Amino acid sequence: MGVKILVIGSGAREHAILRSLAADPDVDALVAAPGNPGMAQFADLAAVRPTDPDDVLRLARETGVDLVVIGPEAPLVAGVADVLRDSGFDVFGPSGVAARLEGSKAFAKEVMAAADVPTALSRVCSDHDEAADALDATGAPYVVKDDGLAAGKGVVVTDDLDEALAHADACFAAGAKVVIEEFLDGPEVSLFCITDGETVLALEPAQDFKRVGDNDEGPNTGGMGAYSPLDWAPDGLVEQVVSTIAQPTIDEMARRGTPFNGVLYVGLALTSRGPRVIEFNARFGDPETQVVLARLRTPLGSLLSAAAKGRLDQHEALRWREQHAVTVVLAASGYPAASRSGDPIDGLPAADAPAYVLHAGTATDGDRLVSAGGRVLSVVALGDDLPDARQTAYAAIEDITLADSHFRTDIALKAQRGEITV
Ligand code: AMP
Repeated sequence: MGVKILVIGSGAREHAILRSLAADPDVDALVAAPGNPGMAQFADLAAVRPTDPDDVLRLARETGVDLVVIGPEAPLVAGVADVLRDSGFDVFGPSGVAARLEGSKAFAKEVMAAADVPTALSRVCSDHDEAADALDATGAPYVVKDDGLAAGKGVVVTDDLDEALAHADACFAAGAKVVIEEFLDGPEVSLFCITDGETVLALEPAQDFKRVGDNDEGPNTGGMGAYSPLDWAPDGLVEQVVSTIAQPTIDEMARRGTPFNGVLYVGLALTSRGPRVIEFNARFGDPETQVVLARLRTPLGSLLSAAAKGRLDQHEALRWREQHAVTVVLAASGYPAASRSGDPIDGLPAADAPAYVLHAGTATDGDRLVSAGGRVLSVVALGDDLPDARQTAYAAIEDITLADSHFRTDIALKAQRGEITV
C-alpha cells in the first residue's frame, strides 16, 4: 500500500513538488489545497484556508492522508505544522517557532551568532535615528531588510542613502523593525537542506534571479528564473555549507528545544572570504524547486516521509540526473508592482514536448485558462548542457501568449558564457 499525501499551496513550487511525488511509485494518491488548475493533472484539488491551522487539520482528517507537505512560509509561521503534528499527522515543514528562522530576520541573526554561522554583520534598528547611525557605520552599498515576512520583497539594496532611509522609515511606519547589514558581494547560491531536526541531507545547489529585469535591473520579485547544477561552484561547496552552516543551525535549534523539521533553505553569497548566509527560509524556494526537483532521481515521497518521521539517518544517498535544468517565469503585466489578472493564456507546450509548464497564478474561466496572479507560470526544461536546456525553455516560453506578459531573457546566461567567478 502506498501513501496518500496532502500538499498545501498553490504556486509553481507546489506544482513541481506534486509532479515529483506523482512519479514516486510508493505514492498512491495526492491532494493539493488550495492548488491551481495545472495541479489537477496529478492531484485532487480541495479548498482550504492555508493559514488557518484548524481548517488544514479538518482537510487532513477528511482526506485521510499519511503525510502533509506545507509549501509556503505563511502557513508555517501561522503554526499549521504544530497543530497537525499535535493531532498525530506526519508533517514535512517546521513548527511555528522554528519557522521564525525565516519569519524574523532578527531571530535568524541571533541563531546564526549562537551557532557561529558566517553571515553579514548586522544591526537591528527600531527607529529612524538608529537606522541613520547604522547606515552611516556600514556605508554604501546599503542593505535594509524588513524584519518580518515579505516574500523576498522586503529588502532594499542601494547606493542611495535617502532610498535606504526611506525604506527603513516605511518599515517603522508599518510597525516593523529593520535589519541593516553589511553588503555581501560574490555570486549567490540557493541550497535546500532537508532535515528531520538532526540529520541534514542537502540537495544540489541552484541559482535564482530575483530582479524583475534583464541584467538584474528593476525591483526585487519572488524570483524570475533559476538553473541547476552550478558548474562554476567550487568543489566541496555543498559539504562546506552543510558542515559550517546548515548542521550547526539545525543543532542550535535542537539544543533550544525547538527542532527544525523540513527544508532549511540557505541563501548564500560566495564572497572572497568564503560562503556567507544572506538569508534562511523555512521552505523550498520558488523557482529553484522547479529546477532542483527536475533533476532529482531519488523518489521524493520517501525522502519527505523519512524527514517527517525522523528517519533521515537511514535514508540512501540522493541520486541525480546528469542533465541541466532551466526554468523561466512568465509574469503578468505590471508584476511586481501590481499585476493584471483575467487575461487568456494560450500556446502551452503539448504533453510530449521537451519543456513543461508548472502553474502558479492561473485560473479557469469557463474552459479557458486565464492569468490570476503576478508570477503566472514557470516553464521548465532539461538539456544535456546549459545551452540546450536554455534553448528548450526559451523556445517554449516564446510560444506562450499572454497579453503584455514579460519574462527575463538572460536566465543562466552568465553561467553559459562562463562569466561567473568566485
Ligand atoms: P533576502 O530576502 O534576505 O533574500 O534578500 C533578497 C535579495 O537581496 C537577495 O537575494 C540578495 O540579492 C539581496 N541581498 C540581501 N542581503 C544582502 C547583503 N547583505 N548583501 C548583498 N545583497 C543582499
